[in-house]
Parts: sequence; C-alpha cells; structure tokens
Amino acid sequence: MTNFNQPLGGNEMPRYAGPGTMFRLPSQETAAGLDIAIAGVGLDIGTSNRAGTRFGPRQIRNESVMVRPYCMATGAAPFDSFQVADVGDVALNSFNLLQSIDIIEAFFDDILAQGAKPAAVGGDHTITLPILRAIHKVHGPVAMVHVDAHADINDRMFGEKITHGTIFRRAIEEGLIDPHRMVQIGLRTTGYSAEDFDWSRDRGVRVVTAEECWYRSLAPLMDEVRDMIGPDGPTYLSFDIDGLDPSVAPGTGTPEPGGLMASQGVEIIRGCFGLNLVGCDLVEVSPPYDTSGNTSLLAANLLFEMLCSMPGCKRNS
Ligand code: MN
Ligand code: MN
Repeated sequence: MTNFNQPLGGNEMPRYAGPGTMFRLPSQETAAGLDIAIAGVGLDIGTSNRAGTRFGPRQIRNESVMVRPYCMATGAAPFDSFQVADVGDVALNSFNLLQSIDIIEAFFDDILAQGAKPAAVGGDHTITLPILRAIHKVHGPVAMVHVDAHADINDRMFGEKITHGTIFRRAIEEGLIDPHRMVQIGLRTTGYSAEDFDWSRDRGVRVVTAEECWYRSLAPLMDEVRDMIGPDGPTYLSFDIDGLDPSVAPGTGTPEPGGLMASQGVEIIRGCFGLNLVGCDLVEVSPPYDTSGNTSLLAANLLFEMLCSMPGCKRNS
C-alpha cells in the first residue's frame, strides 16, 4: 500500500528487542527524503534545578517500543501518510550551553534544508530557541501552541539570557513568534511576583492557566485556538511535559502540582490537527526522576499524537 517507512511490528520482532530508534523506525544520518525527521536533543545544561533531561531522548526511544502505528480514537495513520525516520541525536557540547545552542540551530537548519519537518525530543526547554531560529529562516514568524506549567519568559536567570526559563521571551523579542497567534496552556506555579505571566499577556499572548483547564475537556479551547491561529500560517507546537500534573508525569526537573491530566494533553495535541504545523517538540522529560518509566512512555505517546496532527495526516474512519 505504501513505500513509507514502517515501525518494526511486535509480531516481527519482540518489542523488548530490535532497534533502539524512536517507534522502531529506520534510522538515517540525514533528513534526506523525509517528511518528518525525529531528532534527539539531550540538553540539560540550560536547567535551573534538577537536571537529567540529557537522558530524555534515549529513554523515550526505549519506551516508544510499545507505540503501535494507528490511533484507534482518531483513525490517524501517520506512517501511511508521511515518510518518517529517526535522524539520531544532536552532537551537543555538554560543557558549553551557548555553543550547544549554535550546534542545535545548525542541525535543524540541515533538517529544514532537506524539506523535512522537525520533531524534536528533548532535552530541556532551551532547545526550542535554536530550533525556532532555524525555522524562522525558512518560515518567518510562527504561531505557537505552548504547553507548560511555566511561561518561560524570564528576562534573565542568574544573569543569563539563555536558559530553559527565558526562551519564549527571547523568541518573541527576536521576532521568531507572532505573539498575537500564541497560546500558553497549563501555566501555574508559585511566582516571583503576582505579575509573572503579564509580560506574555502584554504582548498579546493568550494565557490559559491550569485552573482554567481543571475539570473540563480542552477540545472547546482548541476550537478557539484553531480559530485564533487559522489554518494557513506556519505554526509550531512546543510541549513541556511539566505542563501535565506530576501524578501522570513525575519524571521532570521542575514538577508543579495542579497540572493537566494526560487526557487533556492528548486533547491539546489532537486539537492541533487543522493547523499548519511546521515542527514540534516534546521537552523536559528527565529519566532519573522517572522511576516507573511512565513519564517517558507518556512522552512517546504524545510524540506519536504529534505525528498524527501534522497537516495531511490521513484518517481511516
Ligand atoms: Mn518550559
Ligand atoms: Mn516547565
């Protein structure tokens, strides 16, 4: 039926064996010929508190062995729709954050130059800034769907301009994002001041706090988000796993109680179908704090849902 890469099935090779790639897809050295390139970016030196996200890509690949190729709820068939492969990991300099940022940007420049869409697996949230810099060169300013407990709009942290808590401020300042077509979902936490989220609001970003999400389906919210962004403009999805509640995603560096349920995270991603997604990332999974592996397993499933929401993904229904 298709010449697209298929994940190695569990009836061809036991799921605990076989390749260590994401979804047991083929690996490639470059993104040549791909529609979607899955890349690991195991950065954790942009983190303010607990580290460990450097192990994220490897552990999420490990847990991804259980992800099967069809979404039974939506009928989405990403591997009948797109050529997808795992292009491996960015060769970061783990001793130098600023150099690593430049290395990441160049890596994603290469993916985009091949005409592929990047699906990045972090790594701490700092990785999103260089990815957006690369995307901006191709697409201009993007609309943004950002899931997180934190706004990540600090001006500086410990005096530093580039950290996992400053990137969306930098991205808006640099014109990488159109803030009037940006939504931040799941924000909560204790703040340094009562005005912590106002820098976003003052620039036109729609801020949806976690409390606004409690006890409800997020499908209606995503209807509004699609109306706000529209179907055509290049859009990026950045999903910080700590947007979800620590009860479902404890394996992260900056957990915050009172977060979204796993089902709400899925609703957000499914609600992105209909947007012109040009790239996505899943960040902040820290395997040393993921003692059951469930956070990484959830992350792998969320990454699969992202593939299902890429424009043009076929639905069998
Ligand atoms: Mn974040
Ligand atoms: Mn966060």
